[in-house]
Amino acid sequence: MKEYDFYIVPTPIGNLGDITLRAIEILKSVDLIACEDSRNTQKLLNHYNIQTKCVSYHKYNEKERVSQIINLLEQGKKIALVSDAGTPLICDPGAVIVKELRKKGFSVSALAGANAAVTFLSQISRVDEKFSFIGFLPKNQKQIEDIIKQYEFTDTVFYESPNRVLNTLKIIQNIRPDAQIAIGRELTKLFEEVLVDSVDKIVQHFEKNEPKGEFVVMIFRTDKNVNESDLENKIKVLQDKGFSAKDISVILSELYGINKNKIYKISVGK
Ligand code: SAM
Repeated sequence: MKEYDFYIVPTPIGNLGDITLRAIEILKSVDLIACEDSRNTQKLLNHYNIQTKCVSYHKYNEKERVSQIINLLEQGKKIALVSDAGTPLICDPGAVIVKELRKKGFSVSALAGANAAVTFLSQISRVDEKFSFIGFLPKNQKQIEDIIKQYEFTDTVFYESPNRVLNTLKIIQNIRPDAQIAIGRELTKLFEEVLVDSVDKIVQHFEKNEPKGEFVVMIFRTDKNVNESDLENKIKVLQDKGFSAKDISVILSELYGINKNKIYKISVGK
């Protein structure tokens, strides 16, 4: 197997078993592991009996660590980078060091492994392959609203904190009341929960059950091809074939990702 100077090594996003054999092998074989929080990484290293020394590498010391890491690599040492969970550089530190190392001609390689967005998306049925990944949404309400409007026609995935998720869902509800949402909480962990429903239902759920843990959220895209009159025509066709308003709302919502209640109301003429 080819040797590299610097390895980007994904670690589990919850379940400690979600790490590859190669990740364990590399973490054992390198001279040093650069990690976000050494206490956190140490738990993983203890679990797999990995004795390699750790040094902190986080967003507050990224720049100063770069020159120390480069010195070590110049001495022929091999180094691995991990973050607290999942894949480094994906909403996690690492971009600064990787840029510098590539500039200086060091060899850098990433291992395949855990990532919260991919773990989430791989269990959500979507109409096509396209999606946009936002990372964390901005904090400012107006900026969140702009993103929701801007990405209306693409499935849009973002990371969210438990403190903000309900508020964000309410902003979505306000801007896109028909939106369908998929939400993944505590993926791969004991209290894992994945919900796919209208934004109204998801808001109701988290009003009743206080949001706890880590979240990935997706807003399904609005289907450009179904406008109001198209929708009315489709409802009429199904009504003529004898389908009930309830069945029609289920069928069209499943096919086009439109809010069930909206279809139901049109079907019954409200
Ligand atoms: N580098 C990580 C990755 O590859 O997914 C992401 C790091 S980012 C700082 C942490 C965010 O990822 C959390 O706030 C949450 O939104 C999401 N996340 C991480 N683990 C998760 C899990 N087990 N379930 C749901 N979301 C998770």
